[in-house]
Amino acid sequence: AQKTVLITGCSSGIGLALAIKLARDKQKRFKVYATMRNLSKKEKLEKAANNILGKTLEIKQLDVCDEESIKTCVNNIPERRIDILVSNAGMGLIGPIECQTIDEMKTVMDTNFFGLVRLLKEILPDMKKRKSGHIVIISSVMGLQGILFNDVYAASKFAVEGFCESLAIQALQFKLRVSLIEPGPVITEFEKKVYEDGMKMDLSAADEETARMFADVYLKNYNQIFQSLGQSAEEVAEHTVKIILTENPPFRHQTNTLYTPVTTLKYADPNGNLPIDSFYKMVFHHDRIFHASLNFFKLLRWSSRKNIAST
Ligand code: NAD
Repeated sequence: AQKTVLITGCSSGIGLALAIKLARDKQKRFKVYATMRNLSKKEKLEKAANNILGKTLEIKQLDVCDEESIKTCVNNIPERRIDILVSNAGMGLIGPIECQTIDEMKTVMDTNFFGLVRLLKEILPDMKKRKSGHIVIISSVMGLQGILFNDVYAASKFAVEGFCESLAIQALQFKLRVSLIEPGPVITEFEKKVYEDGMKMDLSAADEETARMFADVYLKNYNQIFQSLGQSAEEVAEHTVKIILTENPPFRHQTNTLYTPVTTLKYADPNGNLPIDSFYKMVFHHDRIFHASLNFFKLLRWSSRKNIAST
């Protein structure tokens, strides 16, 4: 039978790419409810969906920060049956905390963390009753490892990861599956918006040294990191489809093999100093090492693309 999939945040990026990939499945195994906060932004998805719109793909309104909108959306799905929930909606925030307001930080936590909690409060009880369901969460490598000037974003993704680790134990009893998808940098609206907000940020509340670190070191290297390591939304969607189709899906899945050496640093040192020292040296003391690593990543990326092309 066709599986029902509900995905949040489908007006752009990974959500849009995943909705299209699943709805275009040749064997028509999925009925996709592609949801978005603001339906006036549905044009891009509608265009990409084209002939499958109203068939294997339907567009619905859902704001993960609004419990009523979640309830209305779920109530409008036949028998409220959601076999696969993909929690994808999210937002970023970069910069020194001295220059961010508590309200801005709360919006990030409310979207990235409480957004998932609200979805599950509505959808999990039905899944438990049916003793079937797959909860897929688009987390991030920043759910495993903090990165300079991403303090609050990393905290929101750590919250997601801790929550899911706890939930996954209970889920076993109900035969539910939980999978965290952990992309590295992905080239989407997200990264553009975060960068633009960073460029516009009023740094007057920060001391000179911090402002310099952010503007002259972090922002200057930001685009290079995305260029050399960044995946496309389609690549992340492909990984997610594979996890959805796997019989016994893993709890964690990193989508970017070029990034894995970085996350591995965390597990190589139980004291936790190795990744912190490495990031520090890379960014501040050995600018040349940093650029050499970026070039190395570019080379790896180029050769892996060549290998894929030749197979
Ligand atoms: P994106 O900005 O294209 O997509 C995020 C979507 O979430 C947008 O369509 C946005 O409108 C939506 N959204 C925001 N607040 C919402 C709300 N309250 N209710 C419903 N929808 C809301 O960026 P993306 O890169 O496709 O991001 C998707 C997910 O991937 C996010 O959870 C993000 O944290 C994660 N991620 C992104 C990157 C990256 O580098 N781009 C890396 C790792 C993880």
